[in-house]
Amino acid sequence: MSTSHLIIGDGIAGSSAAETIREEDPEADVTILTDEGEALYNRILIKEFAKGKLPEAPISIHEPEWYEERDIALELNTHVETVDTDEQVVHTHTGDSYEYDKLLIATGGTPTQLPVDNSDADGIHHFWTFEDARQIREHAEQSETGVVVGAGLLGIDLAAISAAQGLDAHYLMRGNCWWRYALSEEGAEIIHDALEEKGVKPVFNSGVDHFEVDDEGHVEAAVDPNGERFEAEWAGVAIGLDFNTEWLQGTGIERDNGVVVDEYMQTNVDNVYAAGDITQYYDTIFDEQAQNGSWGSAKEQGSIAGTNMVADDETDAFRWVSSYSITHFDFPFLSFGHPTIGDETAERKYSDTEWRQVAFKNGQLVGGVLIGDLSQQSAFKQIIREERQVADQKELLLEENVDLEKLESPPEAD
Ligand SMILES: Cc1cc2nc3c(=O)[nH]c(=O)nc-3n(C[C@H](O)[C@H](O)[C@H](O)COP(=O)(O)OP(=O)(O)OC[C@H]3O[C@@H](n4cnc5c(N)ncnc54)[C@H](O)[C@@H]3O)c2cc1C
Repeated sequence: MSTSHLIIGDGIAGSSAAETIREEDPEADVTILTDEGEALYNRILIKEFAKGKLPEAPISIHEPEWYEERDIALELNTHVETVDTDEQVVHTHTGDSYEYDKLLIATGGTPTQLPVDNSDADGIHHFWTFEDARQIREHAEQSETGVVVGAGLLGIDLAAISAAQGLDAHYLMRGNCWWRYALSEEGAEIIHDALEEKGVKPVFNSGVDHFEVDDEGHVEAAVDPNGERFEAEWAGVAIGLDFNTEWLQGTGIERDNGVVVDEYMQTNVDNVYAAGDITQYYDTIFDEQAQNGSWGSAKEQGSIAGTNMVADDETDAFRWVSSYSITHFDFPFLSFGHPTIGDETAERKYSDTEWRQVAFKNGQLVGGVLIGDLSQQSAFKQIIREERQVADQKELLLEENVDLEKLESPPEAD
């Protein structure tokens, strides 16, 4: 009898799991349930669509035929509400049930709402789906003023969108610099200058106390905690992601701001796996649970889950150094590994648009940020993978070209 594989979520994690399952078991039943109204698209590119630079077509990754050709059943607009792990069945919002032999949870995250007055007003946008991007674009095209809140990797996308759409925009940040958990003021200054050059004004030690709305409930302005008022017909909010697992309550599946899995993408409950942004996975490089929001890592986790689901065994383990690049400026920007979890850092500025920071934890390199020159990213990823003790060799790591031969610490793993 064929094995029935059920996947919740048709993002890159769910979709790559389905592809792997089909490749490895031509007889398996494979079904994907997604609450979105469209099949897998490139979430990384929706910002370019929102800027007005790309048409819709290149953003789609899979047409419906892709699923048909592989005999994968795709159910759109289908929200999973509950899972019964004893009976091995899930229930959807329409009252339908789907039985499984193997279940994959690949439900990603959803943007956190700003907990201030009027944050749900018309004209205030959160950003995760293609549908969000369509609304962001349409509305930005009709607006003249804007504010962006959230000084991180998604917030800067919204800032770049407001610039590309020609809005007179302010970028309200709580601290004294952009992405202060990973960058120093010196590194962030390069980003601030680039934002200003694009027409977005960074405002520091700010944020939003409340939004003002007009009689029709449309946003008019953001007022920051200092009482300063910023006109905004359009607002973009990106203050983090919620990893909603309430619907898994009572299933016995271990949860901790996400779904807890081992390096094989297995949860603690038989026949239930998870992959992608939703996981708190066991990181074999740092020997601790970790979370990672990036496309490449979600894709790899999906594929590893698919392999292990078919094998019904611990065949492939996840071991990965992620990276996340930003392409809004004339210079490249890349974050790799876990740049915010270090207990010490080292940094250097090489020119007006070149800067590097590396972060260490317990003597090991854990991540970093490269601005202007990305040529050393492979060397840094290799050092992380090899678990070398390098915190005492900062000078070598800050040289423009990192010579791995010169590092004194031997690789501890491959
Ligand atoms: C604007 C933007 C820009 C980004 N830029 C980059 C970048 O430059 N580089 C990078 O590496 N990463 C980037 N990311 C992050 C990257 O897109 C994510 O890490 C990746 O898409 C996660 O994939 P996933 O499959 O785990 O989750 P998701 O892509 O979030 O997919 C999960 C799917 O599950 C569905 N779902 C959730 N709950 C249910 C339910 N109960 N029932 C049915 N379906 C459900 C969701 O609707 C969604 O379709 C960006 C993200 C955004 C939003």
